[in-house]
Amino acid sequence: MKTQTIVLKSRPDGKPKESDFGFVEDTLKALSSGEILLKLQYVSVDPYLRGRMSDAKSYVEPFEIDKPMSSLVVAKVTDSKNDKFKKDDMVTGMLPWKKEQISNGENIQKIDDKDVPLSAYLGVLGMTGLTAYLGLTEIGKPKKGETLVVSGAAGAVGSTVGQIGKIMGCKVVGIAGTDEKVDKLKSKFGYNEGINYNTTDDMGAAIKKNCPDGVDIYFDNVGGEISDAILFNINKFSRTINCGAIAVYNETSTPKSVSVRPFLIKNSALMQGFIIGNYADKFGEARKQLAQYLKEDQLTYEETIVEGFENIPSAFMGLFEGKNTGKMIVKI
Ligand code: NDP
Repeated sequence: MKTQTIVLKSRPDGKPKESDFGFVEDTLKALSSGEILLKLQYVSVDPYLRGRMSDAKSYVEPFEIDKPMSSLVVAKVTDSKNDKFKKDDMVTGMLPWKKEQISNGENIQKIDDKDVPLSAYLGVLGMTGLTAYLGLTEIGKPKKGETLVVSGAAGAVGSTVGQIGKIMGCKVVGIAGTDEKVDKLKSKFGYNEGINYNTTDDMGAAIKKNCPDGVDIYFDNVGGEISDAILFNINKFSRTINCGAIAVYNETSTPKSVSVRPFLIKNSALMQGFIIGNYADKFGEARKQLAQYLKEDQLTYEETIVEGFENIPSAFMGLFEGKNTGKMIVKI
C-alpha cells in the first residue's frame, strides 16, 4: 500500500515557508504479528513545532532533515494483528505526519466519541486544554476577585484559560489580534474585557484602563512587546505564567525586551516558565476536571478545521498569521 509522509525539508530562516516541508511517497509492508495499520483522521498543528524545526537546544528534540514531522493526532485502526486493538478503534498519540502508517500499538491510547467529538482530544481535552488548566492552577493559583490577563486569548490555550479563570471567580481580560476575536472573547469565552493589540498604540495604557485594580495573574502565550506592557501593571505578589512566546518564535536574532527584574523585585512578583510535560502526573485529574466543566456547560471550545493532508503545512503556518480561533486542526 502506498502512503504519503510530510518531512522537514529545510530549517526555516524566520517564518516557516512551504518549501521547508517535503512530501514523500513510500510503500507500507504487510502487517506483522503485534502490529496495527492506522489511518490519520485529525492532526494537531501547534506553535511549539516551530521550535522543533530549528536545531537549537530545547525541551523537545529537533526534527531531523528529510525525516517525518509529527504531532498529536487522532487515527483510525484499519487493520490489526494486535490483540489490544481491533479494526475501527480510534486512537490518539504523538505520531508522524504519515497518512497511513504501521504502529506496534505502543504510546497510543484508545478514545471514543461518546462524550465529545474525537477532535476534542487534540484541543480542549488534549495538550492545549491541559496547558490552560495546569498552567493557570499550578502557577497562577487564581483567587476569587483577582484580575487575570491572557494574551493569545482567542487561541486554543487562551480561550480555555479565560473560561477557567472565570469559573474560579477572576475578572478576565483577553488580548487578541482582530476585532472579531475580541468580540468572541466576550460573547463566547466569557471574558470581561478584550483588547485588540493590532489596533492599540499604547498597550500599557490599554491594560491600565481595562485592569483598574492592576494585574494579579498574567497567562502569557505570546511574549514580546505585548508582555512587556503587562509588566508596568502587575500587582504585588502577582504571578506570570510564561507559557508561550509566539511573537518571537520566528526572530532570527535575540529579541530585545524590557528588563523584568526591577518589576519583579518591586512587586515581590513571580514569573515562571511552564512546560506541560512537567505535569504528566496531573494529566488524569486535569482531564477529568475539564471533561466535567464541558459536561456542565461551564466550558466551551472552538476549532478551526482545515481539510486535507496536503494542507498540514499551511495550517501550521497560519498559526503565525492568526488564522485560527480556538484550536487549529487538520481533518484528513
Ligand atoms: P493558538 O491557538 O493561540 O495559535 C496561535 C495564535 O497566536 C494565533 O492565532 C495568533 O492570534 C497569535 N499570534 C501569532 N503571532 C503572533 C504575534 N506575533 N504576536 C501576538 N500573537 C500572535 O496556539 P496555542 O493555543 O496552541 O498556543 C498558545 C501559546 O502557548 C503558544 O505560544 C504555544 O507555543 C504555547 N504553548 C506552550 C505549551 C507549554 O507547555 N509551554 C503547551 C502548549 C502551547 P492573534 O490573531 O490573536 O494574533
